[in-house]
Amino acid sequence: MHPMKQKERSDIDRCVRCGNCKTLCPTYAAEHVEMRGGRGRLALLQRFFGGGVKPSKLLRHHINSCILCGACNRSCPLGIDLTEAIYRGRSALKKGDRRGALLRALAKMSVTWPDIAYKTAQIGQRSIFPALTRMGIIPPIPDLPEAPLRKTDQVFRTQRKKRGRVAVFTGCSINYIFPHFGESLLNVLQRLNYEVILPKGETCCGSPLRTLGLEDEAVEQAKKNHRVFSRLKVDAILSLCPTCTMTLKYDYPKMIGKGLDRAMDISTFFIDKLENTDIINKKAFFHDPCHLSFGLGVKKEPRELITRAGIELVGPAESGCCGFGGLFCVSNKELSANMLKDRAAAITSSGADTVITSCPGCIMQLSRSITDRPVIHLIELIEDAFYFRGEEQKELF
Ligand code: SF4
Ligand code: SF4
Repeated sequence: MHPMKQKERSDIDRCVRCGNCKTLCPTYAAEHVEMRGGRGRLALLQRFFGGGVKPSKLLRHHINSCILCGACNRSCPLGIDLTEAIYRGRSALKKGDRRGALLRALAKMSVTWPDIAYKTAQIGQRSIFPALTRMGIIPPIPDLPEAPLRKTDQVFRTQRKKRGRVAVFTGCSINYIFPHFGESLLNVLQRLNYEVILPKGETCCGSPLRTLGLEDEAVEQAKKNHRVFSRLKVDAILSLCPTCTMTLKYDYPKMIGKGLDRAMDISTFFIDKLENTDIINKKAFFHDPCHLSFGLGVKKEPRELITRAGIELVGPAESGCCGFGGLFCVSNKELSANMLKDRAAAITSSGADTVITSCPGCIMQLSRSITDRPVIHLIELIEDAFYFRGEEQKELF
């Protein structure tokens, strides 16, 4: 019997093997192998935690090939939390996993000393990075900016009467890779007369650590973030990364017993605050990030904001995974590439001249394949359509 059995098994044991969780599972759709779908993985974990299956390379391979999109959680009629079981499984399986040791060490170092990691990355982005990407240790990363978004305690006051206060959880990808998205968010919030706070002390949300089985380290980050953000008197905690938002809101209660309830996606926050504008005459495809649609249950708000900007939405509204999944795209290179190929084909055949999404990771992944049209973040559109309305606009499209 595995020592972690009780906690993990209570939920897993309720499974009736109906297979519903396979219907939207992107890794099952790509390979049609039972152990590469929700039901198969859950059955493996049940046997592993029950002591019937020993840790092995093959077992790790099946459990680590899950992209943790959360589609299975949404489709299970019994409400079984499959992704939580996968996280627990990875944590239990990391012992003896020499293959993932380097990645775990790098992740721990980056989270412990993020600014040093950033400086090192800046120096190495032309030399070490391409080699690490070729070796499959890190995903391809766009050119890093000169400075991150978050510096120290930052409060951005409004010139006019304050409408409210909002905290921004920047997250690592916005802070270190796409700070201009964060600046767009600050612009829009200030235009709407919100005081904005970027508090000192924010750290990695913990999600990348969990995907690597580093549960204790992720819990440590969750506690730090909860301490910093829960004391703020704000109307909302906004992030431009749905993985961060989902983690703060729904995963922290499972990790540390309390979540950040005011965390929400920007589309949910802006839906009742931005008026119609029809200045942008384009056809766009909205790509649903998995953690936005399955994790946060947000689908209609981004689409409504896009159409309010005068853009015609084209293509099917069904979600489809781009195959990014953070470090999934390096640890499951071939599978990720196949998923990207399918998603890119669905997008390009839609006739859209622009691709809009709400996740920095999806942008990185989709931009690798879709190079003949812009792939933008929803906040860029919001800034262009609503913030610069009637003024000189940025050249987005
Ligand atoms: S999280 Fe996604 S990839 Fe993993 S089992 Fe569930 S549906 Fe499949
Ligand atoms: S949908 Fe739920 S009950 Fe059905 S096989 Fe999947 S985990 Fe089990």
